[in-house]
Parts: sequence; structure tokens; C-alpha cells
Amino acid sequence: MPVIPSVLIASIGYGGHFFVFSETFTTYEQYWFQFCLSMLWLSYYLAITTSPGSPPSDFKTLPYEWHRWCKKCEGYKPERSHHCKTCGICVLKMDHHCPWTANCVGFANMPHFMRFLLWVDYTNFVAFKGILSKSITFWNERSAPIYLISKTQLTATIVLFFMSLFVLCTVGLLTLRELQGILFTGRTQIETWDMDRIRDHIETMGFVEKIQKSYKELFGKELQNLMSWSSSHKRELTAGVPILTEDDIVFPYFTNPIDNIFQCMGYPWNWLNPFGGPAGTGLTFKKNPDCVYDPKDSESQDFCVMPWPMDGGHQDQDQIEDSEVSMDSVETDDGDEQIIEDNEIVIRSRPLIKRSQWRNEYGESLGDLGVEE
Ligand SMILES: [Zn+2]
Ligand SMILES: [Zn+2]
Repeated sequence: MPVIPSVLIASIGYGGHFFVFSETFTTYEQYWFQFCLSMLWLSYYLAITTSPGSPPSDFKTLPYEWHRWCKKCEGYKPERSHHCKTCGICVLKMDHHCPWTANCVGFANMPHFMRFLLWVDYTNFVAFKGILSKSITFWNERSAPIYLISKTQLTATIVLFFMSLFVLCTVGLLTLRELQGILFTGRTQIETWDMDRIRDHIETMGFVEKIQKSYKELFGKELQNLMSWSSSHKRELTAGVPILTEDDIVFPYFTNPIDNIFQCMGYPWNWLNPFGGPAGTGLTFKKNPDCVYDPKDSESQDFCVMPWPMDGGHQDQDQIEDSEVSMDSVETDDGDEQIIEDNEIVIRSRPLIKRSQWRNEYGESLGDLGVEE
């Protein structure tokens, strides 16, 4: 069991109860607090010991998906799975490798991990209220003679105040990031990272070339309709200078919040069940209808039907070539000359950064999330 988180939980839970708020909480409040603390320990234990799920050895990749072979596990990786460099296995719908639980957070243990986060947030909030109220009492009695104040209680209150505040901020932020994924975007931490990377590269020529090349490899034909969906940028792609914006990127696994909660957390009667698991197999996932490739429907075939990540960013072994756009103007199909502004050329000629080297706004690389591709 990881030492630092366990010490924090025990100190705030038992130290706080014994030294700080045993006098101020009612008997009922004390029983309730200990019940929540026990549920926290149970969900923590399950988040640590439950496997996140790994693919069966005979797993076969679906048609029109990336065929990602894991050299370490000697098997194909299902969609949304990654090889964890710490756990040494391919993890189904890998979210991230979590140092707090010394385990990967993935498809099969996501409900335990979320219950753990929520029990920590709630229990710590109750403790923080008790500690804060005791701190205010100490402050109001600051002019009282020193022999009337218990030094042990005062020290415990000060130390636990900062411990509890630390947990409130760090676990609170992590909970918000996870809930945002579950409710609003449908993305894991790794997929959020990939989305940010794609947004950072969307206007480079190299990115567009990778999409075109990957599309041909996947579907055996040229990508015809590479154009922007967003009306403000709805310019035809001319002379090899495509116009795409981040609004054109559709994340394929998000259909609606309800589907996503069920798939991550299981059905509602399981949410508070400490042993409840997710819905589905973790090997395939429902896709947004706009992102499903249909060989018979030529109208709907644009780059949105490409598997995630759409630029085939996991194929880092491909040498990424710097794209240089050295022209001031390009010819459109109907012969008009279209002036491209200088700053636009600078953006488009910016080279792609390899996926393994790119970092997001928090400075996190893919390796920091635990992934070994
Ligand atoms: Zn693997
Ligand atoms: Zn791991």
C-alpha cells in the first residue's frame, strides 16, 4: 500500500478525529465520519488491488482500426488501450498510471478509483470543516492564558489544517479533471492529452499530410473531402494548403454524458456499491455515428472516420519530415490567386513535434501519464 497517501489519510482521519474534532462533533457525526473513512479505505484498497484490465492474448484488431502491436506483451492493442511502463502490461482504456494507488487506472478499476476520489473529497471536506472550526476557536481565544490551551491539540490543529488543505486542493483538482472527462468530453487523461497535442498541430502542413497518408493506408483510397466543418473557415482546400481548425476535430468515443457515465461507472445501482464494475468489455467502445466508417456511404467519408488518434500519432517510428511552405501565394482550382498571409505561412511551416516529445500545458509528456508506446 502506498505509504504517503496512507499516512495522510490516517493522520487526517484518525488524528483529526482524536485530537481536533472529537469534542465538537456530535456522536452521530462521529459515527458518520468513521463510516465514510471506512468506505474510503475499502475503495482505496480496491483501486490498488483491482486490475485495470488487459487484452486477451488472442485479441484481433478490428478492420479500419490502427493495428498497434505491443512488442512487450506480444499482442495487438485494442482501441483506447496503452502499454503501461510501470505495470508492464497493456491496460484497457488506460486513463493514467496513478502513483497514489501504485496501479494503473483503466477500464475495469475506474469505478473504484472514482469512488476513492469522491470518498476522499467528501471525508476530507468534513474533516477540514472540523479542523477549521477548531482553528477559529483557537484564534478567538488567543488572548487566553497559555496554560489553558492544550499544546498537543494546537499543534495537531495547525499541522492537520495544512495536510487537509493540501488534499482538498490536489485530490479536488484530480477529481474535477476526471469528472470533466466522464461528463463532458468522454476522454481519458491520455486522450485529453492527445486532443491537446492534435489541437497544437492542427494548422501544420505535416499534420495534414499524416492524415492523408494514414487515411490511404487504412482505407486503401485517397482522402477526398479534407475540408473544414466550421463555417467561418469553410474555404475549399486549395493547392495542397488545407484549412482545418480545432473545431473540426471530433472525439469519436463521446456520444452523450449518460452513455459515458454508464460505460465508465456501470449502471446507477452500482455507483455506490463498493464492488460495482463498469459496463461493457473494454475491448470495443460505442462511437459517435459521424465517426463510423461506412464503405458504402461515400458522402460521409472524411477524416472524422479515422480511428483515434486520427493522425496515427502513436506511430512515432515514422520519421516526421519538416514541412516547408515557401510560397507567398497559391493557385486555386478556378485559377484565382489566393494570398496567404505571412503569419499563416509561419504556422503551417512549423514542424510537427514527435508524440513522445510533446508536452501539454501542465508540462506533462505521455511518459508522465505512464504510457510506453
Ligand atoms: Zn503491452
Ligand atoms: Zn500502470
